[in-house]
This record gives sequence, structure tokens and C-alpha cells, in this order.
Amino acid sequence: MQDAVTFDPRDFQDSQDSQDSQDMAPAAAASTDREAPSPLLDALDVRGKREFNKLQKRLRRQAGNAIVDYGMIQEGDRVMVCLSGGKDSYTLLSILRSLQRNAPVNFSLVAVNLDQKQPGFPEQVLPEYLASIGVDYHILERDTYSVVKEKTPEGKTTCALCSRLRRGSLYGFAEEIGATKIALGHHREDILETLFLNLFFGGSLKAMPPKLLSDDGKNILIRPLAYCREADIAEFARLMAFPIIPCNLCGSQPNLQRQVVKEMLGEWEKKHPGRLESMFKAVTNVAPSQLADRELFDFAGLEEKQARLQASRIDILNES
Ligand code: SF4
Repeated sequence: MQDAVTFDPRDFQDSQDSQDSQDMAPAAAASTDREAPSPLLDALDVRGKREFNKLQKRLRRQAGNAIVDYGMIQEGDRVMVCLSGGKDSYTLLSILRSLQRNAPVNFSLVAVNLDQKQPGFPEQVLPEYLASIGVDYHILERDTYSVVKEKTPEGKTTCALCSRLRRGSLYGFAEEIGATKIALGHHREDILETLFLNLFFGGSLKAMPPKLLSDDGKNILIRPLAYCREADIAEFARLMAFPIIPCNLCGSQPNLQRQVVKEMLGEWEKKHPGRLESMFKAVTNVAPSQLADRELFDFAGLEEKQARLQASRIDILNES
């Protein structure tokens, strides 16, 4: 049985943070893990290095808080980090490795990339990068690309089937390698975009949870970057010079609805700074009695509740 101990955010205030507060930490010291060299980081002046350290510290703090708030990682967990080669998953791996050094619980990390056999996929990029930073990793090869092409009618979007096959492959592999958690790189904007996509097109009020049990009950998924802003992740990935693999190799059209929602949210934030933060807070602060879902709230039982409350008030009056 696993120990129920989870992270305390204070455990992430390590020596690196104290260096930050002195505004003197060189970028090279920002991560004591073995990281691939970044010419962009090396070229930063003192102010740039200070900003980078603040950015890294913010991402660590937000990820640490999300891990604590949702009890994402426990003693002995083997966390499988899904690495697509995009900015989010590289950042996730980097931040988790950094948190691992100071965590009060022991957990291991294993990076897994699913090579879906898309034409032009640069298959050496991830193994070379992962070997260079000394992380335990697997490259899982599954030709989902051919299946998707074969099964999807011409002109239809391939992403739904592709994602389903990818999920199935990764979940199955997690079991094979004994991973107890599957970590995904979704961030705050992904969660809000999903919320609005469901609202606009799905007729449901749901987003993307920071922690989830898979439908078959076999895997627990965690999203440690749930509190992190996409812009911060993009800047971190840029400065770290991660070897990004473009996500359009399959030739599929991007999800246009998601793109529209993304732009809408971006416009809102530009016109009303802080709106995304408020909306994200709303996702964590739901009042079922103020919505209209009869499964979530017992509207039919209100009369009974009213009678109970009135009876208890009468009892109190009689006693006084
Ligand atoms: S863009 Fe291509 S690789 Fe990505 S989910 Fe869609 S079909 Fe799959």
C-alpha cells in the first residue's frame, strides 16, 4: 500500500530559490539537473538570467502547488512522462525533474515518446535529447498513422481517432512498465479551451481535470502544469532551446474549433488582463446548487431540507 504522504509546497523552496532572491543566480545554475546546453541561456545578460530564474521558479511553484492540491504524486510512484516533442511536454519533464530533487517523497520518472510513424518524424531527436540529459526513457513504436489514414474518410479530421489510439497505446505501455501515474503536459489554457469547447459545442460544463482515473480504472493521469500559463511555458521552452518537433507532420488540419476558442481567450485576456485567471479559479470553485444539474444537486429534496432546518430552529427556540 502506498504511503499517503504528499508534497508540501514549502519543500520546493530550495537553495535555488534563495539564489533567485539575491538576483544573482546565473542561468547555468538555474537547473542543477543535467540539461542539454542552451546557447540562448548562455547569451542572456544578468537581467535576462534573473528573469529566467524567476520564470523557472514560478513554473516550479505552480507545478508544486498543483501536485500538492490534487495529491498527484505519492511515495514510491513511478511517473511516466508522456513526451510528444512539443514545448509543453519538454517543460513538464524539466520541471518534474527539478522538483524531484527536493521532494519529500521518493518517486521515479520515466519519459515515454510514442513514435506514431508519421512521415518525416525525426526519430533521432528525442532519444538523443533524453540520453544527453540522462533520463530513463522509452520510445514506443506504433504505426497509428497508417491506421488513422486507412480508417478516416477523405476530408474528415483525423485527430479524434489518432488521439484515441495514442491514448490506448500509452495507457497500455504504462501498465507494461509498471508506471503508477501518467503525467501529461496540459496547462491552464488547455483546460480553459476544453471548458469552452464543451460549452459551445458539447452542451456540457466540463473541462480537463488535473487528476483523472482512466475509464477502465487502470491508470491515473496527472497534469502537473494545470496552474501554469501557456505563455510562461512557451518562453521557458524557447530559452531552454528544447529540440521541438513540429506537431503538424501528419498533415492533418489543426482543430479549427480549438483554434478559434484559443484566439477568443487570447483576445479576452488582452482586453481584460486577469480574465483567464478568474475563469480558471471558477473551474476550481464550483457551486452545484447554483447550476441546474439534477445529478449534482438534490433540487427535489429542498422542501425536505427546508422542513428539517425549520424543525431544528424551533427546537433551538424551545430550548432557549
Ligand atoms: S494533428 Fe496529427 S498527430 Fe496530432 S492528433 Fe491530429 S492527427 Fe494526430
